Amino acid sequence: MAAARTGANTLLVERHGYLDGCSTAPYNTSIGWFGDSHDQLIIRGLPMEYLQRMEKDGQAFITRNGAKNQIWPPYTKKIAFDMVEEAGVNLWLHSWAYDVVMDGDVLKGVVIQTKGGRGIMLGKTFVDTSADADIAAWCGAPNQVEDIENIKQVSRDYIACGVDSAQVVEWARENKDRLGLKVAGLEHENTVGAFRRNARACDRVWIRATHRVAPTEFAMIEVGIL
Ligand SMILES: Cc1cc2nc3c(=O)[nH]c(=O)nc-3n(C[C@H](O)[C@H](O)[C@H](O)COP(=O)(O)OP(=O)(O)OC[C@H]3O[C@@H](n4cnc5c(N)ncnc54)[C@H](O)[C@@H]3O)c2cc1C
Repeated sequence: MAAARTGANTLLVERHGYLDGCSTAPYNTSIGWFGDSHDQLIIRGLPMEYLQRMEKDGQAFITRNGAKNQIWPPYTKKIAFDMVEEAGVNLWLHSWAYDVVMDGDVLKGVVIQTKGGRGIMLGKTFVDTSADADIAAWCGAPNQVEDIENIKQVSRDYIACGVDSAQVVEWARENKDRLGLKVAGLEHENTVGAFRRNARACDRVWIRATHRVAPTEFAMIEVGIL
């Protein structure tokens, strides 16, 4: 998107039928983290623009200093498509990059497979946004695959629709000891209050349970209202 905005003829190749990758696919309920360890805003640019557009459409809540946010996950697809289209990016969906064409040490093209066939996309500049450094690895750049034990554990987010959100927050507060959970955020009336004030569709409750130690051992649960 940044390349296209500078006027470069830009092609975005995506294997899935939507944009935003791992942010959209697992239903992320927030885009983290825009603040430093003191919660001071340190990231702006395109990510913040994207969030602000979500908020403008009533599909996100950004805290006052911008460091934290909550989003309604499915809406990320629309915003991403809108922004890419407005920037004038050429978009190929359902298209796999699976090999590279090199001239010595220089990357000249990427081999792309689509339903329509296979071809080589030549380019002057390539940006590898595959998350796994696929292109860089195929070019021969040093890389390593992390051992499974060292890979960060995933968190679990639940979004329930059509419920009495105030009652759920109250339930989490009352049951945190019985469930052996640390209820983060609920101690801070401001956080919950802010969510409540900004809840345009206030029947959507968001619960995040993050485990840090073992799959059955929850270290944190946060509850908010989207
Ligand atoms: C279950 C889960 C929950 C998470 N929760 C949160 C959260 O709440 N908040 C948060 O901030 N982060 C969260 N994350 C992490 C966050 O989603 C990622 O850090 C972020 O999406 C990485 O962005 P990226 O652009 O680097 O990679 P990705 O989002 O993975 O994007 C890579 C894109 O490249 C495409 N691609 C890859 N290889 C190829 C290829 N060979 N050809 C064509 N296309 C290809 C993929 O389809 C994808 O669209 C979570 C991750 C997971 C898995």
